[in-house]
This record gives sequence, structure tokens and C-alpha cells, in this order.
Amino acid sequence: MLVNKKSGVLNRLYLYEIVIGLWITIKNMFFAKKVTIQYPEERREYSDRYRGLHYIKAVNGVENCTACMLCPTVCPAECIHIEAGERPDKEKYPVKFEIDILRCCYCGFCEEACPKDAIKLSNIYEMAVLRREDGIYDKEKLLVQRSNK
Ligand code: SF4
Ligand code: SF4
Repeated sequence: MLVNKKSGVLNRLYLYEIVIGLWITIKNMFFAKKVTIQYPEERREYSDRYRGLHYIKAVNGVENCTACMLCPTVCPAECIHIEAGERPDKEKYPVKFEIDILRCCYCGFCEEACPKDAIKLSNIYEMAVLRREDGIYDKEKLLVQRSNK
């Protein structure tokens, strides 16, 4: 099919499109609301509902966990490993408590299932590690209080 494309000088010079394109660029550079931030100098505030790095709550320096095994049972990623022990007062406690944060999918099921409110997910989202083994958080690392939740 033969199309008769009659166009004026402006169209042939693409001047109109160039001006429109420039205007869009200038508008976005100087007048549009910025959607990006200068990370890591600037950081966003995350909601309290954000599910980030785990921690174990402690009361008077003792972990609140009674090694009931509910959290590893509900964990869909099977990334919680607990070895239970018994205190002299017959109370159970986790001798070993590990979470593989690189396997975790941050579903929050462990936090929901815990009857002692011991395991919590903080709003910390910076969890990059250099070695695979650094992604396994042991009890010592998990006992660091990471939020007021
Ligand atoms: S947040 Fe979900 S995947 Fe991660 S440890 Fe808890 S239950 Fe497992
Ligand atoms: S559910 Fe709570 S109390 Fe039970 S093992 Fe997990 S952290 Fe400990």
C-alpha cells in the first residue's frame, strides 16, 4: 500500500519530538518527586510490620525460649536448628539455636507460632555476608536485641 506521507519542515527535522523529549527530561530532573534515595547515606524508614533479621528475646540475660520446637516445626524453609537442654530447675532451654538466614524466606511463621514470644523478626534488612557460613546465626548472634518489637 502506498502511503502519502506529507510532512512539514518541523516534522522532518524531528524538532517537535526533540523539544518534547527535552521537556520531559527537564521536568523529571527538576520538578518531579524523587523516588530513589542516596543509599547508604540515606535510609528509608520501614514499617514495624516489616519482617527482617531475627533475634531472640532475653529476660534478665536469659533467652525466653523453652526449646518447644514449634518454630522449627512450622518453618517452611527448614532453616531453624535447635538442640534442647535442661536446666537444674527442669526448665528446657536451647543449648543450640541456629537460623540459616540465607535459606529463610522471612514468612514470620516462627514469630507467630512462638508461645513464649521469644523469636522475633526485626526491621533490619541489611544482611549481606561475604561467606556462606556467616549466614548461619547462632544463639549468641540471635540474642542481640535488634528492635523494640
Ligand atoms: S521467617 Fe519463616 S522461613 Fe524464616 S525462620 Fe521463620 S518460619 Fe522459617
Ligand atoms: S517457638 Fe519460641 S519457645 Fe519454642 S523453640 Fe521456637 S523460639 Fe523457642
